[in-house]
Amino acid sequence: VNRVVVVGAGLAGVRSVEALRARGFDGRITLIGQERHRPYDRPPLSKAVLLGDSDSSYVDSDLSAMGIDFRPGVSAKALRADAVETTEGELAYDGLVIATGTEPITLPGDGPQHVLRTLDDSLELRARLVPGARVAVIGAGWIGAEVATAARRAGCAVTVIEASSAPLALAVGEEIGARTLSWYDDIDLRLDTMVGSVDEGGVELVGGGFVQAHVVVAGIGVRPAVEWLADADIDLHNGVVTDEHLRTSMPGVVAVGDCAAWWSRRYQARLRVEHWDTALSAPEVAAATLLGEKAVYDPVPYFWSEQFGHMIQYAGHHPAGRRLLYRGTPEGKWSACWLTDEDTLAAVLSVDRPRDLVQGRRIIDAGHRLDTERLVDPDVPLRDC
Ligand code: FAD
Repeated sequence: VNRVVVVGAGLAGVRSVEALRARGFDGRITLIGQERHRPYDRPPLSKAVLLGDSDSSYVDSDLSAMGIDFRPGVSAKALRADAVETTEGELAYDGLVIATGTEPITLPGDGPQHVLRTLDDSLELRARLVPGARVAVIGAGWIGAEVATAARRAGCAVTVIEASSAPLALAVGEEIGARTLSWYDDIDLRLDTMVGSVDEGGVELVGGGFVQAHVVVAGIGVRPAVEWLADADIDLHNGVVTDEHLRTSMPGVVAVGDCAAWWSRRYQARLRVEHWDTALSAPEVAAATLLGEKAVYDPVPYFWSEQFGHMIQYAGHHPAGRRLLYRGTPEGKWSACWLTDEDTLAAVLSVDRPRDLVQGRRIIDAGHRLDTERLVDPDVPLRDC
């Protein structure tokens, strides 16, 4: 490989160029990114940046010292076997990394709505979160809960509208979500409620009703940013399909981060994980693959969320579990463990119990059986169960 193009200058993109250089690749690397910014981390956009504790979250990476030809404000439009078509002309490649991430889904309607994906989105929304503002957050998922946290702290009157019967239901199930209900104490939480459209002055609900709002935020999920690949000869299915080496169906092309749906040897399933740790770690394997080395991407997925003063952390893949057991009660610090039929740990979710997360992640990796009677005693360390 002599000439690598990395498409997408988010975390997965910048980690890819770092990994290529770290492996001794000294050929040409061009990194293109749709945004005008140099690479930055997104988790702070709904936390420190939105709360006003920080104004940016740039990744500490010296692209020019690494000899990277970085082109901000340039989008890929199409992919061929030997070149990428961009908004600024063609770029030839013999190795390519797809790292275009995801983009937010918006709601129908002509009224103004915010999404939260970019640094610019976060700064714009932050300016609108002023005391007394009526804020309607659509979706009580990770982003919705974090936006509600920031809006409430800014002194806004917050309504959260969620289609399911509990917060976080789509991500981790209604039973877990129900354990976070008390966190919404001074928020107008409308469950089992669908938004029809965003109109001037608020949102129209399906089946009647209107929620007045000065600020509407859609936190209803994202989709892989792969439209630019529509005409390429590459397998797409819920993102860019890859094998366990992060190789796509196109020769010399790998995919990483939010946009990649990789084959997990561990779970014998195709996973696409929209979380920071994947964007951080997958590029090591993708770079090795691109350089012809043998490497397998087989992580225990991990993420966290900070909401309503609580730290939620998750490791594993709960669809691989059958039984849900708790350590601790919802009023305090607690964890949830999903167990397989063999009583091995499929996934762990901890609320303000970081040790359970760290130990659980190791147990998942090791794959040993747990003593379920000890497990439900929150005073017994998870590693001793
Ligand atoms: P992205 O970060 O989406 O980067 C992709 C880049 O590619 C973008 O800059 C995009 O503009 C660019 N691009 C897209 N299409 C093109 C194109 N055609 N040509 C050129 N460039 C293109 N995860 C956690 O684990 N914990 C958290 O607490 C957490 N909080 C988050 C909070 C927010 C507000 C957001 C938005 C995400 C959060 N995440 C969190 C998720 C995490 O940030 C993502 O998983 C991570 O950013 C994925 O990185 P990526 O590089 O794959 O994609």
